[in-house]
Amino acid sequence: MPAPRFSIRLKLTIGSLLPLFVAILFCSLTGIYIITNRINVLAQEKVRTDLNSAREVYSNEIGHIRDVVRFSANMPFAAEAVSAGDRRAIAPFLTTLRHDEQLDLLTAVDHRGRVLFRAGNPDVFGDPLDQDPPVTRALRGEVTAGSVIYQPDRLLLEGKELADRAVIKVISTERAKPGAKKSERSGMLLVASAPLRNRSGLIVGALYGGVLLNGNNAVVDRIKKIVYEGVQFKGQDVGTATIFLDDTRISTNVQTRDGKRAIGTRLSAEVYNRVILNREKWVDRAFVVNDWYFSAYEPILDLDGKVIGSLYVGMREQPNTALKKRVNLIFGSVLLVGSMFGLAVSGFTGSHLSRPIRELQRLVQRFSNGERDLRIETESGDEIGELAREFNTMTGTLRQREEAISELNRSLELKVLERTAELEAKNELLVKTQGELVKAEKLAAVGELAAGVAHEINNPMAIIRGNAEVLLIDLPPGNPNREEAEIIAQQVGRVEGIVGNLLSFARQQRKALRRVDIDRILEEILRQVGHQVSLEGIELRRQFSIGTTGIEGDENQLRQVFTNLIVNAVQAMEQGGTLTVRTARDHQAGTCLVEVGDTGKGIPPEQLKDIFTPFFTTKQTGNGLGLSVSYGIVENHGGTITVSNPPEGGSLFVVTLPPGQATA
Ligand code: ADP
Repeated sequence: MPAPRFSIRLKLTIGSLLPLFVAILFCSLTGIYIITNRINVLAQEKVRTDLNSAREVYSNEIGHIRDVVRFSANMPFAAEAVSAGDRRAIAPFLTTLRHDEQLDLLTAVDHRGRVLFRAGNPDVFGDPLDQDPPVTRALRGEVTAGSVIYQPDRLLLEGKELADRAVIKVISTERAKPGAKKSERSGMLLVASAPLRNRSGLIVGALYGGVLLNGNNAVVDRIKKIVYEGVQFKGQDVGTATIFLDDTRISTNVQTRDGKRAIGTRLSAEVYNRVILNREKWVDRAFVVNDWYFSAYEPILDLDGKVIGSLYVGMREQPNTALKKRVNLIFGSVLLVGSMFGLAVSGFTGSHLSRPIRELQRLVQRFSNGERDLRIETESGDEIGELAREFNTMTGTLRQREEAISELNRSLELKVLERTAELEAKNELLVKTQGELVKAEKLAAVGELAAGVAHEINNPMAIIRGNAEVLLIDLPPGNPNREEAEIIAQQVGRVEGIVGNLLSFARQQRKALRRVDIDRILEEILRQVGHQVSLEGIELRRQFSIGTTGIEGDENQLRQVFTNLIVNAVQAMEQGGTLTVRTARDHQAGTCLVEVGDTGKGIPPEQLKDIFTPFFTTKQTGNGLGLSVSYGIVENHGGTITVSNPPEGGSLFVVTLPPGQATA
């Protein structure tokens, strides 16, 4: 599998972008972590201080009730009326005060703790409250204020309407401790009590008053208003406060899903254990009713220091979550913008850096496709510039080497051509030599045969000739038989000629060597040839230039050769023409050249190969031995004989003879 191909530009981009991206990502994540963490810590801190403020508000409420009760108890007329057991005298005062100060209960008791008058429930009186902690304390002379729990029957004493108001339907909650009751009938109250003293300072009774917290949201709403100043997020209050009786919300501004106060819902078991059972503060995230809150709880103690419930404040997490989201968004945007910027910068840098590399790559490709004279122009002093210069040097060197190689190739080709030509020439020579060898062997065989035949014919011929001559002597001129005898003698002469030719053909290897003056022999032949053939209409041209030195050879045999050629030439020109006989010497090689040319009928090309073959003839009276004998003689002298038909017509025979004969 080929390795995936990544461009340098991509690698540069990734290489420079990745660290940037990682750095920004790291900073963003760290920033987000620190900020969100800080936001959480701050929120928790705020809730912790909010709880302090809430406690202050709660205590102020108690303080207010205490002040009202103490102030009233200090009125001399109140002590006098209680001391006198005058219900009618105290009734208007307490009723008006209860109404004005919006207290749920305001009761006067005598020095034994029996109820004299209940402003909240005037019909019930005379019952003993000497076991009621605020009353007992007041009768001991203390001014007391705090939170208390009234059982349902105790509440009933203070009024049916109050007991009814206290009833809260408990709503089961998932995380709450198990074993919930269906409704809460006890009541949590803020109460205060103070002794009533006569003029001499003796305690004559006590006054106590209070407000029921069950279903009374005035305190929690005040806490919300004071602590959170009505801050809202998306139309809902951010801050909330709650008062728990045991684990049940009896007063709250936390809302359920349907927008009602979540009265009756319960505290989670976890918080209950910590706050109610372990009497500890709880400051942490908590899921309250239906949302997450930064929450703080602390226990509410009654006058005896027993935990009877808890006070809660909490801030919805939502605004903080939105803030965190915004922070995330800001960091995310920074990361994105930073990355885009980095991408743009590294993309630009990458393309700037990779441009000369791409250029170099293109040139290398063109170079490998066969283009030369390529140069990359660069002024850059970096590694890429260095590479470009190296490339230029390399192409130059390669070009020089290629030129040297092609020069070498050319000379090699020339040498091969020369050698081939030499070989061809030698081959031709070989073929020719082989042909000549075959021809020579053939001629030798024919010669042997001819010599045998001639020898056998010679003797009978000598007898015929002798008898013919005897006949001619016996027959005087005018005898009618003499003509036949003459024909016999004539034909015998012809047969002897043939036999002579055959013999000379057979004897040609045996030469009588001496200096032969070729020019002279030719001159003699030309002078005498007229006896053999008619020279009528024939123009003779002599061009002799060998000189008297001549060559070494058998004069008679050579004479026979030249005679044959000249007679043939004359015979070829039946209608007349020009006979040219030319000799020349090649002074360098020492060879002699004899040319016999005519302007006769020429030799048909298809016959050229046959004319040196014995007995080949086109003439009626010819015997076809002249040229074959001549060929044998010339070959025997170490020379050559060739024939051609020159373009101007006729035939041209050329004989070349070496200056001397190698001793056989
Ligand atoms: P012959 O003369 O008896 O025919 P040769 O061997 O001398 O035998 O010649 C062979 C043949 O070559 C001739 O018959 C002739 O056809 C041809 N020949 C030779 N010389 C010439 C020439 N100069 N011009 C044309 N034909 C020639």
